[in-house]
Amino acid sequence: MDIPYALLGSKQSCTCGRDHQVPIEKIAIDERMLDHLSPYLLGESLERVLLVADANTYQVFGDQVYQHLLGAGVTCGVHVFSSHHDLLPDEQAIAAVRQNIVQSGAKGVLAVGSGVINDVARYASYQEGIPYVVIPTAPSMDGYASSVAALQFNGVKTTLPAHTPKAIFVQPKILSDAPFELIQSGFGDLIGKTISLLDWKLSHVLFGEYFCPKSYEMVLAPLQYCIEHAAKLRERDQTSTKNLFVGLINSGIAMAMMGNSRPCSGSEHHCSHYWDLLAYQGVRPHASHGLQVGYAVQWMIRFYRALTQLASIKTPLAPALTPEREAQIRQFYGDGAGEILTVFRDKESWHREHDGDFQTRDISLVLKELEPELSMLPSAARALREMDIPETVDVLGLTVDTLRETFLHANELRSRYTIFDFLASQGELHRATQNILEPLEVVKK
Ligand SMILES: [Zn+2]
Ligand SMILES: [Zn+2]
Repeated sequence: MDIPYALLGSKQSCTCGRDHQVPIEKIAIDERMLDHLSPYLLGESLERVLLVADANTYQVFGDQVYQHLLGAGVTCGVHVFSSHHDLLPDEQAIAAVRQNIVQSGAKGVLAVGSGVINDVARYASYQEGIPYVVIPTAPSMDGYASSVAALQFNGVKTTLPAHTPKAIFVQPKILSDAPFELIQSGFGDLIGKTISLLDWKLSHVLFGEYFCPKSYEMVLAPLQYCIEHAAKLRERDQTSTKNLFVGLINSGIAMAMMGNSRPCSGSEHHCSHYWDLLAYQGVRPHASHGLQVGYAVQWMIRFYRALTQLASIKTPLAPALTPEREAQIRQFYGDGAGEILTVFRDKESWHREHDGDFQTRDISLVLKELEPELSMLPSAARALREMDIPETVDVLGLTVDTLRETFLHANELRSRYTIFDFLASQGELHRATQNILEPLEVVKK
């Protein structure tokens, strides 16, 4: 598996009818990447940069990068977040980096790390109008190449437009030496595509939502690879780890081509966002993004099984915001309620725009269109087990009750259409949730 280098830094027309632009100029996956980093920065007039890391990633690789740049004529300021585990991509972290950019006069940001460091560096550099370069330290998530920033404002996960990195420099050995939890997390994020691709296609079949086969393929190929190589990844095989990273980068490129995260984020991500919110409220501890996404996949597989058991498709019920639900939302989401209510209104207008009906109400046609993805579900479930992603209830600080809440309300978090919206529109979401959770409650009693 390889990076589609020909797409980098270019604009290309596509069979989907749109032009796609991938603004990332350079991706170097090379053991000797440090030798290329400083000439690249100097060649791009980035002779003064701000290195952003956390205490952990600074120790793993940040200090080495810093020392190297000092000897190579690049002036490098350093912003190291002290805590790795409690760092959130929130207003405070972004403000701190922006302030440091201004004070140091940096012309670019160098992010050394993974998830949160990458999002904070991306958004802060975007706000300050300067480029950023990322040096990943783990194959732990798909956001390296993406153009959107996954942030958490007032506890609510939100995805805001930002920019892609100008370049990505990575040392393969750093990736395969990463802690297993981070490799597991990247695998979880990638296997989430089993569901996000299904959600996207479902909406395409039902509503004719815009669909790009090239972006789709770019996500599907690494997904199939990782499902087949889960056991190898479990052993931290170097080639498989590098290919997991390439798959995560290519997923990011697919998002950059689309200008949004549609191919890579569906109901499985919405579950994870809901759990982040519960963690923010102190109901459960934080867990890594990819682990949560992987954990969500096994539940979403069950919801897709529920879809395959529907006898017919009815006229969709419009999403309805009752005064009672609005009051609950205001109470539950607190300062984040405004955004959730906007999502409701978006869904109401989406329903109106589509005349309140589907393009087809032929269930067998829908299932036929989804067959290639549905047939992957059993092997995806096996791969999750091979990578030790938990499959029981009462893990990750979640219980039958919080899972029920998640499945009934995760679709309030985003205006993006998923299987949750479809089942709700059929009056089937409560029943499906009950059927999935009921056997677990019996076991508990
Ligand atoms: Zn993700
Ligand atoms: Zn396209």
